[in-house]
Amino acid sequence: MTVWDDLVGQERVSGQLDAAARDADALVTAAAVSAPPPEASRMTHAWLFTGPPGAGRTQAARAFAAALQCVSPDRALGGTPGCGFCDGCHTALVGTHADVTTVAAVGTQILAEDMRDTVRKSFTSPANGRWQVILVEDAERLNEKSANAVLKAVEEPAPRTVWLLCAPSIEDVLPTIRSRCRHLNLCTPSVEAVADMLVRREGIEPDVALAAARATQGHVDRARRLATDPAARRRRAAVLKLPLRVEDVGGCLKAAQELVDAASEDAKVLAEEMDTKETEELKAALGAAQGGRLPRGTAGVMKDLEDKQKRRRTRTQRDSLDLALTDLTAFYRDVLALQFGSRVAIANADAEDALERIARGSSPESTLRRIEAIGACRDALDRNVAPLLAVEAMTMTLRAG
Ligand SMILES: [Zn+2]
Repeated sequence: MTVWDDLVGQERVSGQLDAAARDADALVTAAAVSAPPPEASRMTHAWLFTGPPGAGRTQAARAFAAALQCVSPDRALGGTPGCGFCDGCHTALVGTHADVTTVAAVGTQILAEDMRDTVRKSFTSPANGRWQVILVEDAERLNEKSANAVLKAVEEPAPRTVWLLCAPSIEDVLPTIRSRCRHLNLCTPSVEAVADMLVRREGIEPDVALAAARATQGHVDRARRLATDPAARRRRAAVLKLPLRVEDVGGCLKAAQELVDAASEDAKVLAEEMDTKETEELKAALGAAQGGRLPRGTAGVMKDLEDKQKRRRTRTQRDSLDLALTDLTAFYRDVLALQFGSRVAIANADAEDALERIARGSSPESTLRRIEAIGACRDALDRNVAPLLAVEAMTMTLRAG
């Protein structure tokens, strides 16, 4: 068992990261005994992880962070860094290592103020003498200002600082930043690899695992959730019924409203948990007794937190809608496959009746148009169009012809 075992179907990438982690370890060891650094090194100070959603970009970056911080004594005996169990690995994996800083967008953008402390930290030495690791989970959400701050830091890194940037594709990151990074592209893991992971790691029955892996098409987290969470299964089943419900205008509007409501509900449940905890922690830090008054001059800090929470809520709602749209796209792809007489790659075998009905009652051209409508809805959500408007426009297009 090593940190690389959690990366599903990414043998090539984990091989490269493993090699880099070994060389990084050799660099630290040489410095500790004042020996000259090894001549050739596969280690570098900036990495860009790309790959389709769910392939495990962040997991790969986090596993690498753990391997860089690994302090297992086995390393000296020829073992590979990244044991997964030592204090360095463990704290890096659970997010409590002092020298691993994770940045994730709370809203639709990473703002300059979200980045400020992290960039400052990147110019300092690590507390434990190994590596100062900065992991940016969604580098595609850096805006102009925050991207420029990152660029400066990546251009002139401190000797022991490592930047790990994650983004869907290389085009999502400024050319000036990506030219300074070593690029690793994760592939979509195969259905078999995902199913195998579910059986091995989660103890799921093989046929349930295979169905979940197939339905989520290589998205590891979604497959895990679908296989283990009944609420996720109910949500998906509701989404897959939508194509049969958009027969008239009333049905379209109702389906749109339900889709948006379900997403808000998701966001609310997630947010309430996090918001309450955060607010209480901040109040405590500001010196207010529970339920007591806040000290003078701290209203601005509280306001900042409220803004951040509001941005996160909007983002969570969009993410949840996006998941539903992904399921819907997969449904119409299956319809298209049936219309072309191919049954091999059907993702939603459990919705076969609905698939058959839509496939018989429409043409491949209209299926393509429907898939485009879902894409257009996604683009509209990205441009901050009000969710209900965007989803209604989509369901209306799903209806016609
Ligand atoms: Zn370790």
